[in-house]
Amino acid sequence: MGEAVPPTMRAAVLRSVKDLAVEERPVPEPGPREVLIQVRSVGTCGSDVHYYEHGRIGDFVVRAPLVLGHESSGVVVGRGSEVTRHEVGQRVSMEPGVPCFTCAQCRAGRYNLCPDMRFFATPPIDGAFCEYVVLHEEFAHPVPDSMSDDAAALLEPLSVGVWSSQKARVGPGTRVLVTGAGPIGLVALQAARAFGAAEVVVTDVLPQRLETARALGATTVNVAETSLADAGVEADVLIECSGFPPAIGEAIRRVRRAGRVVLVGMGGDEIPLPLAHVQSFEIEVTGTFRYANTWPTAIALATGKEVDLDRLATHHFGLDATEQALTALARDENTIKAMVHPDRP
Ligand SMILES: [Zn+2]
Ligand SMILES: [Zn+2]
Repeated sequence: MGEAVPPTMRAAVLRSVKDLAVEERPVPEPGPREVLIQVRSVGTCGSDVHYYEHGRIGDFVVRAPLVLGHESSGVVVGRGSEVTRHEVGQRVSMEPGVPCFTCAQCRAGRYNLCPDMRFFATPPIDGAFCEYVVLHEEFAHPVPDSMSDDAAALLEPLSVGVWSSQKARVGPGTRVLVTGAGPIGLVALQAARAFGAAEVVVTDVLPQRLETARALGATTVNVAETSLADAGVEADVLIECSGFPPAIGEAIRRVRRAGRVVLVGMGGDEIPLPLAHVQSFEIEVTGTFRYANTWPTAIALATGKEVDLDRLATHHFGLDATEQALTALARDENTIKAMVHPDRP
């Protein structure tokens, strides 16, 4: 083993709503099939911000101190007794959810739907805003040296984008509408283009977000100024990333016959559905929950030139400034992803 692993580490712990503090904790011991990973980069996600501000997301409630952060990368610094996949020193992107491997959903290959999933930063499982984590070796994915720590961390949101294009069956020539140009909209856009979409129209109300979407290859519509109908938008596929219920119905009406609607954004618990349009056009409407088996594709896309993840990492903080990372978007709407670097103070 290279550098000696210390017995304790620093971890940014959410103690209660809007109360986050850096604490000293024992470094976790890897189980037989687990690797110990020194964390290098962690993206802050809307879900982290939501837990920080509200202490819960739906039925998931923070009842005990919780470490947030689930978009992470690092380097292997220790191995459990039965680990065969990784050597110490391997740089990895972390797939943050480890399923049970044995239930009906896991056996069917839909492990994202495993009811016994243990997922980083989802109560009561701790996440990656800390110096070291343990992870099952199969969910620590090696990344090439050409990929930055930030890009390796952002393979997690890219996986959401890849999964949305897979669920929507985006292929060569597909015309795609992505509603919402936040971080998830921007990875959905990039994945759809990499899957061969003929055109990707991206909507938002913030000009600077639309500018980023255009730089990444989108045609854009500012829906604060122009309706989708007036803009003449028609799509085979809608990938809904805004989570803004009033906008979703209008977007679904722009989907063509036999089109697909994939609901990625999280907004209200219930949305109005233009049922007559969905029925007469035989439109498929589906939800998505995280992803399954997406890392190999995400790594390939981010290694090539199809996808630019580094561009999304706009703000950087050390571990002591994790709270600033979680509030970065609220302070500056130019923030796309605020990254936390636990190996820095
Ligand atoms: Zn996330
Ligand atoms: Zn399972």
